[in-house]
Amino acid sequence: MTANRAVRWADPTIMGAALAGPGGPTWTGAATRAILSAMTTPAPTPLEPRALAAGLTAAGVAGVTISWADNNGIPRSRTVPVGALPRVAEVGVGITTLFAVFDSADAITFAHADLATPSGDVRLVPVLDKLVPLAGQPALAWAPGRQVAADGDPWPYDQRGALERQVDALAADGLTALVGYEMEFGVYLDDGADDEPVPAHPGPAYSPQALVGIDGFVADVLRDCAANGLELGQLHAEYGPAQMELSLAATDPVTAADNQLLARQTLRAAAQRHGLRLTFAPLPATTVAGNGWHVHTSLWRGERNLLASHTGRPTDDGAAYVAGLLRDLPAVAAVTAPSQGSLARLRPGFFAGAYGFWGVENREAPLRYVPGTAFLGEGNANVELKTSDASANPYLALAAVLAAGAAGVAEGLTLPEPVQSDPGTWTADERAEHAIVALPASQEEQEKALTGSPRVAGALGPALLGAFLAVRRSDAASAHDRDVDDVLAGLRWRY
Ligand code: GLU
Ligand code: MG
Repeated sequence: MTANRAVRWADPTIMGAALAGPGGPTWTGAATRAILSAMTTPAPTPLEPRALAAGLTAAGVAGVTISWADNNGIPRSRTVPVGALPRVAEVGVGITTLFAVFDSADAITFAHADLATPSGDVRLVPVLDKLVPLAGQPALAWAPGRQVAADGDPWPYDQRGALERQVDALAADGLTALVGYEMEFGVYLDDGADDEPVPAHPGPAYSPQALVGIDGFVADVLRDCAANGLELGQLHAEYGPAQMELSLAATDPVTAADNQLLARQTLRAAAQRHGLRLTFAPLPATTVAGNGWHVHTSLWRGERNLLASHTGRPTDDGAAYVAGLLRDLPAVAAVTAPSQGSLARLRPGFFAGAYGFWGVENREAPLRYVPGTAFLGEGNANVELKTSDASANPYLALAAVLAAGAAGVAEGLTLPEPVQSDPGTWTADERAEHAIVALPASQEEQEKALTGSPRVAGALGPALLGAFLAVRRSDAASAHDRDVDDVLAGLRWRY
């Protein structure tokens, strides 16, 4: 990542956007370093755990919340007192091996043979470089966690590790990726009534007037994100009543996933202060707009954005990257939009990506190519995956995306013609003529797609794949024979 990569993914039109700051601040540990540098004692080695703990204590921080996301995309955590940080930084804190097989309702499935007993321990180790004191929860700091085996060896169920492996694999081919998330969510009054949540803004869609009633919340989100080291693209009232969207600046992939988790925490704390309740669920109810957490990626060789092109369409390696994503889209979607709520969200005509195709700036396409125009600069070029939501583990989601795309580059795949309309409005014959098929619409179809892609399945590795599939089956079994509204209500506040 270098300062002169002029990357700015700005969507000039109303639907969707992700902005990436050109050579923006390296936020890694920035807030922490600020605390350390404010100390009067001799300059400590940056992020030396003892000095860090002392600095945090002096700043009034009592505990550090170490967070990861499980296979349902649900954030989990442990909080340790600041005084324990030096020891915890070394050996982590114990958590059960069974977190890999928690399902979306916190039920533990014992159906994955290698994690079929309640015995076993994993160590959750904070990533100190990413530790930030939380602006919205001043007594706490936050850090993403790595999961390692009890003896310190790699733990094959560690989702963050799976993404790190993909990033390393790209690097071995001389490639890097930039990733930016768009997060849509619903804002409701926190009045304790679950049955009929009351929208905190009435619309109109994208209107400044929609947010006036919650401007204290909006202001706190902007302030707290900045203080927590999250660079934002923009924030706006989205399409549906109660819906908003926040876009995060593009960063390296692991930071993008860390930031996505930190953004959830930051948003929730701000909402709490204003008597609001947020839903990040892919589809909070059948009657409201879906919440996509779209992923924008670009692939770079040195300073060259491979997605950039002068023709308005991706070329060469950039085209091969998109072709790789397109080939594996059903398997990728099984990881990036994996829940019962995801499946309910993927309806044609809702800009969520229900059929497998790509298009240039086509907002109905699950793969929307965003060209780098002369106006915006080549760094702007990227491809957006719309078939992605908060029920995906962000580390696994990005590992799946990068594995699929990189394989396309390695194999020099060719990209078919773009589709510029909505194949959902075509006849079945027209779709067949263009070889456009629906993306997997059930857990069984997703499992078939995922196990059928050596690239995406390989990105998870056999252990994590086994646990992931067991969790998906558990979710599907508990949704079986239930009304979809009931299933969606159960997932509404989980992410
Ligand atoms: N809310 C839509 C979704 O479910 C996306 C709308 C947009 O393109 O911003 O993904
Ligand atoms: Mg949007």
